[in-house]
Amino acid sequence: LLKLDKQKIKKIIERERPKRVGLAAPDGLLNVLPELAKYIESLNVESVIFGEPSYGTCDLGIADSELLGLDLVFNIGHATDVENIGKVYLIDAQYELETDKLLHEVENYLKKVGATRPALFTTSNYRDVTDKLKTGLIKRGIKVVEPGKFPGLFEGQVFGCNYYSSIFAKESDILVFVGQSPFHAAGLSLVSEKMTVMADPHNAIVEDISKTAETLYKAAVARIMLAKNAEKIGVVVGLKEGQMFYKKARWISRRLISMNKESLVLAMREITPWKLNSIRGFDAFVEMACPRIPMADRGFDRPVLSYPEGIGLLKVLNGKELGNPYRMSVLY
Ligand code: SF4
Repeated sequence: LLKLDKQKIKKIIERERPKRVGLAAPDGLLNVLPELAKYIESLNVESVIFGEPSYGTCDLGIADSELLGLDLVFNIGHATDVENIGKVYLIDAQYELETDKLLHEVENYLKKVGATRPALFTTSNYRDVTDKLKTGLIKRGIKVVEPGKFPGLFEGQVFGCNYYSSIFAKESDILVFVGQSPFHAAGLSLVSEKMTVMADPHNAIVEDISKTAETLYKAAVARIMLAKNAEKIGVVVGLKEGQMFYKKARWISRRLISMNKESLVLAMREITPWKLNSIRGFDAFVEMACPRIPMADRGFDRPVLSYPEGIGLLKVLNGKELGNPYRMSVLY
């Protein structure tokens, strides 16, 4: 079901001649690593499996790879339009799925809502599926609007913190997120403020995502309003290389102080409820690491805002309308 580009790994090993390599993957792909490690050892190269999931290009484990003395790292399933970031090589993993039924469902949905100009977006592992869907729609005479391309990413590729490609799909009247992540689809909806659906290729289902987006938005407004009344606000910097925004954290902290709040800067590798809840002395937090954290992690005992929500908080404290804190934000 998931096609891993093993040939590319072999070629890189032959070219770079590493002595010791690391293997990293997201949660759902960690189980492919032991077999891959055995394969790499069969090429007379030492391999080390990173047992903790990698979240993507924001989380490449570069400092850890230095500690382990790795010559290079293969990060599986987080491909972008660049082959490597330093010593970390991004290895593609694509789902191989039939799209006929999904194509039929998408076509029916477009007719039902009267949309004629879809634009397609996806994450790294569904690019082949998305291409097949796009070809099918074009063959049926539907004008598919080209999505944009963020430097270093594939066309139409989105991250939970980067929906830049949607900015270019101005002519589209519906955004179709291909994949199984309601979070990404809802993010697309919040950023673009356009009709958005999730086309799930595993189950061939097209789902209106507006309710999910609305729920996320309302929860964010509630967090911001609670944080408005906080006296002491911690600003948390992420310690993963792609989540480290110290200067912006310090800037937000200073702005909060200028608005009569107490504020200090903290640093953490993983920002989880069980860790943050144990730190007392703050009434609310703004975390700079990843916008998914407040949206996905239930269980924080005080309001935790992401960076765009933190900007929203500053607006509200300044007496301005909150509006939509996510609108067209290419975060960070
Ligand atoms: S959404 Fe979060 S986990 Fe995903 S790439 Fe952005 S910072 Fe990393």
